[in-house]
Amino acid sequence: MIYLNTSTNIVTDYCPVDSLVSQGILVVEDSRLQRKAVVDWLACYGIENIFEADDGQKALELVEAMEVPPAVIILDLELPEVDGIELLQELAMKNIRPAIIVASSVDEVLIGSVAAMVQALRFPLLGAFRKPCEPASMVDALRRFEQVSEENIQRRPQSLELKPENLSDAIVNGDINIVYQPKLNLQTGEIAGVEGLARWRLNNKQIISPNIFIPLAEESDLIGALTLKILDQALADMIRWRESGLVVPMAINLSAKCLADRNLASDIIGRVRTQGIPPHLLTFEITESALVVDLAEALANTSRLRLKGFSFSIDDYGTGFSSMQQLTRFPFSELKIDRSFVHGAVNREHLRSILQSAIDMGTRLGITTVAEGVETQQELQLLKSMGCHHVQGYLISRPLTSEQLVEWGSAKLQMNAEICNSD
Ligand code: C2E
Ligand code: CA
Ligand code: CA
Repeated sequence: MIYLNTSTNIVTDYCPVDSLVSQGILVVEDSRLQRKAVVDWLACYGIENIFEADDGQKALELVEAMEVPPAVIILDLELPEVDGIELLQELAMKNIRPAIIVASSVDEVLIGSVAAMVQALRFPLLGAFRKPCEPASMVDALRRFEQVSEENIQRRPQSLELKPENLSDAIVNGDINIVYQPKLNLQTGEIAGVEGLARWRLNNKQIISPNIFIPLAEESDLIGALTLKILDQALADMIRWRESGLVVPMAINLSAKCLADRNLASDIIGRVRTQGIPPHLLTFEITESALVVDLAEALANTSRLRLKGFSFSIDDYGTGFSSMQQLTRFPFSELKIDRSFVHGAVNREHLRSILQSAIDMGTRLGITTVAEGVETQQELQLLKSMGCHHVQGYLISRPLTSEQLVEWGSAKLQMNAEICNSD
């Protein structure tokens, strides 16, 4: 294992994106020697703004004084006064969320817990490592910045106040669009289906993430109207694709809140029937953060829809509500393993065990296992060797517009078959 200290540790084919170069990186590390090593290493990549702090309090003051926060914080956890965990909590409270790389000498399980906390606080997590770090792993983490920066990184709070009225107007005016992310069948290399992901486009073209507006919709009782609007759009796109020769199964995210609505099943059945789409082409991914309030209603809706031929997937399996107990209650035919188990499984033994047991359990229950958030070829090969059925993630494709999906469909089929077959 090498420490990040000499120019011989430079990964030559890595070139950071412009925003990373200009916005810069903050290194929070109390050991002067280690901090210098990381700073020197980063400087070799041409990062223009490299900031340093030897304690959480100093880091916080530094970030608060900046007009634009650093793009990334490389964070040690054990710091003399304000530790790394407190720093993250303070930043989240101030709604400042740069991308985070955790680099600490504490044990792997603790690093895993902090990584989960980083995500729960809604920071983009680029990586979490035990020191000393491998330069190649650090570069992989920095490469991930490019992916998350487009969608996730929230800059300084822009006091974008979204009210329920704005959302309800957006639903009526058709400002909510869907992008589609393909899923790949690991055995055949074919497209296993697509997942529809909602996007809210504001007048100024700014795109709002569903992580922001779905909770708003749930709190303001707009989630039902929003879901049906999304379903309508997805069905219209399926018809368009069918006309160009592409018949592809569709997954729609369904907030568990919707399941408490007595009319849900009838509304869905009616719409799908009118459009002439076979129900077996539709899966509902149940996403949840709050508990299902009305269990009887939720079971009635899911059972009726299953009877008609629709499928259900348990989304983000392994997190929060998405537990084994739900598998015993609801008629799921797919288990979608949360991406937090996929990231890091290549390097972390205990994540690998959890991943394997989720896949084994799905297989024993006779339901399809899908791993989400697959970003590297190594992750894909690992999942394939573990017997996972389908994968989804940036390695296969980013979410695409309806038109892009049609183009992607034929062009990528061949390539994906090759990805699957390479060992
Ligand atoms: P999800 O259902 O877990 O959807 C997957 C999320 O992971 C998507 O984020 C997708 O863009 C992202 N993703 C896909 N591949 C990768 C990858 O390789 N790496 C990483 N790091 N991320 C990847 P998105 O579109 O921002 O959606 C966030 C969440 O919002 C979704 O998580 C879902 O829970 C919710 N959501 C999205 N659309 C809808 C919707 O129409 N209705 C409801 N109720 N929820 C929705
Ligand atoms: Ca989903
Ligand atoms: Ca998910």
